[in-house]
Amino acid sequence: MRQTAKPTRENRTITVDFHDETTYFALLDNTQAFIEFVLAFLLSIGFQLAHKATCCSGGCLTRHSHYARVRLGGLTIWRVQCTACHAVFTVLPHFVLRYRSMRPEVARAALLATHGGLSLEWCAVIHHISPMALYRLVCALGHQSLVPVLTRCGLPLPVYFLVDEKHSRCLTAKVYLPTIVCGRVIWHLGYTEEASAAAFTQSYGAFQRAASQQEPSYRVKGVLTDGFDSTTKSMRTLFPRVRLGYCLRHAINKLPGKLAAITSPVRKALRTQFHTLLYRARQRKGLRVFALGQRLRRFVDHVTTTAGAANGARVRRWFQEKKAGWYAVLADPQMPVTSTLLDQAHNALERKLFAMKGFHHPHGSQQAFLTGLAHLYNLVPYQRRAQHAGQCGVEVEGGRVPTTDWFLNLQILTSGGFR
Ligand SMILES: [Zn+2]
Repeated sequence: MRQTAKPTRENRTITVDFHDETTYFALLDNTQAFIEFVLAFLLSIGFQLAHKATCCSGGCLTRHSHYARVRLGGLTIWRVQCTACHAVFTVLPHFVLRYRSMRPEVARAALLATHGGLSLEWCAVIHHISPMALYRLVCALGHQSLVPVLTRCGLPLPVYFLVDEKHSRCLTAKVYLPTIVCGRVIWHLGYTEEASAAAFTQSYGAFQRAASQQEPSYRVKGVLTDGFDSTTKSMRTLFPRVRLGYCLRHAINKLPGKLAAITSPVRKALRTQFHTLLYRARQRKGLRVFALGQRLRRFVDHVTTTAGAANGARVRRWFQEKKAGWYAVLADPQMPVTSTLLDQAHNALERKLFAMKGFHHPHGSQQAFLTGLAHLYNLVPYQRRAQHAGQCGVEVEGGRVPTTDWFLNLQILTSGGFR
């Protein structure tokens, strides 16, 4: 039996936009022109090739070998090699998908329909493909992880972010999707079968490792959670000096649940007053934290007089538990205040997960599928009438995408050969 693990071969495929198929076929017969075209394309998108670690990058590219793809009807695919480090890159023309015979225009339409919330089965019906082929396509995109793709778009690693776990089901078992969102971009979408701090730490740890690999000095300053114990514990483990805040909107929504045996108008009035309290505390820069402590105490007194001692005591205990997290939000003006954008991301995913119920099975590649969905979430432009019409999440957050075509961007950015 082999004792040593086989070293995983690095995926050095690069997708190159040849504009149309004719150009590609014409270039196949001209080595020099082919290489020049590839180099010009690299220059135009501003990416570099993932050479071997030892490469001084002084090498130039030569045409290495070619082979025919049987599945693609014998299409010739070229490989190019770096003369310095001998890394070999497979040049995939834009009109083919890696390891797949599905045409890009079919994949484009099917992925867009999936992203829009249509079930895999229905997407498959309207595009004459099998649901499994579509599932595998999303998984294939997900083999490239989120952090390198987002940093390739020039997005800085998030210093402040939102974190929460979506609850879902895998057949009858409960599963959790630990998620990290910064603005309109998903930085991590994991999959765990337990809601323990250890399980979440392992999932979020994948993000932490990927980020530190990109930037060894990476530090997180602030994280907003809804205050769930396992989430905050996992954040403290992974980012020891992080400021942990609790979502203020969650707090406002939770208050009515703490008030028992009172009339609805009284409950509503207290909720409104609590909302005003937190809102005012946010307005008062500098004094915010001090002001909040005092106001919370006064609010408890107010609850006691209007809703009785039992409710007053319950609210006081709840404040004791949560106020540190609210202070943390108010103490740093850069801290996100509510997790609304994360909830939006989860709602968008909900539809797709519901749609993929048939594919929830113990040995499925849930992680790859979810990462693939996250790429779509980050890179598919918003529809015409949306607030950021025509832009994708990455662009809204200030990132740059290589081309104006979202599907081509997806192909290019999930290629393993770029750096
Ligand atoms: Zn090299």
